[in-house]
Amino acid sequence: MDYKSEMKALRDRLNEAGYRYYVLDDPAMDDYEYDRLLRRLEELEAEHPEEITPDSPTQRVGGAALESFAQVEHPVPLESLQDVFSPEEVEEFAQRMDEVLETAAYSVEPKVDGLSVALEYRDGVFVQGATRGDGRVGEDVTENLRTIKSIPMTLPDKLPRLIVRGEVFMPKNVFHKLNRRREENGEAPFANPRNAAAGSLRQLDPKVCAKRLLDIRVFNLQLAEGRTFASHSETLDYIASQGFQTIPHKVLDKVSEVNAEIVRLGESREELPFDMDGAVVKLNSLPDRAVAGSTAKCPRWAVAYKYPPERKPSRVLDIVVQVGRTGVLTPKVVVEPVRLAGTTVTNATLHNQDFIEEKDIRIGDTVVLQKAGEIIPEVVEVLRDLRPEGTEPYRLPEVCPVCGAAVVRDEDGAFNRCTGAECPAQLHRNLTHFASRDAMDIDGMGPAVMRQLIDKGLVRTPADLYFLTAGQLADLERMGKKSAQNAVDAIAASKTRGLERLLFALGIRQVGQKAGKILAARFGSFDALAQAGEEELTAIDDVGGVTAAYIREWIASPQSQHLIGRLKEAGVSMEAAQQSAGEQFRGMTFVLTGALEKFTRDEAAALIEARGGKASGSVSKKTTYVVAGENAGSKLRKAEELGIPVLTEEEFAAMLAE
Ligand code: AMP
Repeated sequence: MDYKSEMKALRDRLNEAGYRYYVLDDPAMDDYEYDRLLRRLEELEAEHPEEITPDSPTQRVGGAALESFAQVEHPVPLESLQDVFSPEEVEEFAQRMDEVLETAAYSVEPKVDGLSVALEYRDGVFVQGATRGDGRVGEDVTENLRTIKSIPMTLPDKLPRLIVRGEVFMPKNVFHKLNRRREENGEAPFANPRNAAAGSLRQLDPKVCAKRLLDIRVFNLQLAEGRTFASHSETLDYIASQGFQTIPHKVLDKVSEVNAEIVRLGESREELPFDMDGAVVKLNSLPDRAVAGSTAKCPRWAVAYKYPPERKPSRVLDIVVQVGRTGVLTPKVVVEPVRLAGTTVTNATLHNQDFIEEKDIRIGDTVVLQKAGEIIPEVVEVLRDLRPEGTEPYRLPEVCPVCGAAVVRDEDGAFNRCTGAECPAQLHRNLTHFASRDAMDIDGMGPAVMRQLIDKGLVRTPADLYFLTAGQLADLERMGKKSAQNAVDAIAASKTRGLERLLFALGIRQVGQKAGKILAARFGSFDALAQAGEEELTAIDDVGGVTAAYIREWIASPQSQHLIGRLKEAGVSMEAAQQSAGEQFRGMTFVLTGALEKFTRDEAAALIEARGGKASGSVSKKTTYVVAGENAGSKLRKAEELGIPVLTEEEFAAMLAE
C-alpha cells in the first residue's frame, strides 16, 4: 500500500473507532490498538506533512494558540428560549399553540446547562464553529471545538452547507476531577461545570481546551442546503446519521404527557452526564413552527421549563468545622441523610459565623435544605416551631480544631481564620507557597511532591524540607535518584534567599513580596523585626495598622516561634539579602544628625547596615557622609569643618532607593 492510501486507511479506522467510543458510547477498539494506529499515523504525517488532512484525528489535540477570537456572524440566529415555571404555564403554552394549529406534537428534551455553539460544514467538512455570543454574532472557537471528540470532522453526506447547533458541556465526572486537581494545585476551583466549560472553550490555546475533555449534544439543525425536513425529530435523526451526538428527546402530543415527561426527566438528572437546567418543550413540526413564528428574541413555538429547586427538611445532628487550606474555618451542618434533587445530602455549608447568627442555626434544629445551582446544598431556613428545648446559639471555636492555634476574625469580619504557622490543614498550601518561585524558589518541589511528603509524614512544617535526605526524596513517585539529588541541592540553595523572600514565604497575612522587601530593608534581620513594636511597624510607609497587627500576632504565636527556630537550626538565612550580598555602602560610614522625618535613627541605621555600611555616632575624618535632618547641631558644624559631604534626608532616601 502506498503511504497515501495507508494514511487514509488509518484515518478512517481511527475516526470510526472514535465515533464508536465518543458518540455511540460503544467502544470497538481497545486503547492499546488505538494508540498504536495513532502513532503510525503521526509518523506518516511527520514524513509527509503535506498529506495532513483536517479530519485527521491528530488534528484534535490543539494547534497553535490564538491572539484573540475572530467574530463570526450567524447566518441563522441562535435564539433564546422563554422560561416557564409551572405545569400550568406549560399548559398555557400548549393552548397558545392550539389556537393557531390544528393539532400539535411536542418534542421534550433536557436543557443542557452548557454553552451554545454553531458548527458549520461545507461539502461535509467541518470548517467553522462559533459561540452564541449575542445570538447574531459570536466568537470563532473552531480550533477548540476540533478538540471535542464527539464532533465529527467530516460527514458522510457532502451537503454544500450544513449548520447544526448544540450545547457544549463538561461532563460531571470530568468536572469533579478537574476541580480536585485545581484545588490540589492551589488554583481556584470552578463554581460549576458550566463555568468550567465556558472557561475551557474560551481558552486561546486549544491544547488547554483539549485537556478539558468537553462534550456536546446537538439539539438543532440550523441550515441544510439541499435538504428539507418535515419535523424536528426527523432532523435529529438525520443529524445523528451524520455522526453527531444528539439530544435525547421524546415526541408527545398531549400536554399531560409533556408534563409527565418533564417530571420524569427531572428525576433522571442524576444519570445524565451533563447538568440540566430545565426541560425544553418544542413544537415538533417544522411547518407548524413557521406558523407560530418568533418574537424579537425567542421562538413562540418553544418554552424552557425551569424546575423549582427541590427543598426538604432535615434535622441538624451536629455542626462541624473544617479548616481550609488557607486557614479559613468553614462551619457545616451534619444532617440526617435526605434525598434532594437526585443525590443524598448529609451536610450543608454554613459559610461563616454571620450566616449562622443571621439564621440562628442550632444543633437539634430542623432546617429546610435546597440545592443552589443544582449542586451545593444550602440551608434555607430554620423551622423554629420544631426547635427542641435546651438548644443554644452556636459559636465558632476560638482555637483551631486541627492544630489548636488561636483563631482570629479577618479584618473585614467575614471569615475566622486559624493563625497556626504549622497547622496541618494548611500545610500543603503553605509548603507550595514556601517553595514557589517568588518565595524561596525551590526548583522541582511542586504540589505533587509536597503532597507525597506530607502523606508519608516526612514533612510537618516548611522547615522540615531542609532536613530531607536525597534517599528519602528518591523513594517518592516519579522522583529518580538524580532529581532527588537536584531537589536536595535546590533546597540547600534556598537557605540564602534572604529575609525579604523568607518573610513572603512564611505566608504571614498581608505580607506580600513588596512588604517583605520593605520590612527586610528596614530591619535587616528577622530578630530585629521580631523586636519591633506595633508603632514602629505602623510608622513604615506601606505597612498599615492591620498588617502590623498580623505581623506581631504571627511572631508571637508559639507555632511561628517553633518554625523560626527550626529554620534557624537548618541554617536558613534570617538576614536581608542585601546585608549578606549588599555592597552598596560597603566601606562607608554614615553619621546621622538632627530629626529625620521618614525614619527613626534606628531604622536609618538598620538600612545603612543592610547595605554593608556602618552607622556611627560621631563625626571624624573617616566619616563618608553626614545625614542632616531638621535642627542638626554640632555634628553638622563638625562635618563642615572637616569638609565631609552632607546629605539631606531626601538625598539619603534617594541613595537608599538606588
Ligand atoms: P436561555 O439562554 O436561558 O434563553 O436558554 C436557551 C439556551 O438553552 C439556548 O441558547 C441553548 O444554549 C440552551 N439549550 C440547552 N439545551 C437545549 C435544548 N435541548 N434545546 C434548545 N436549547 C437548549
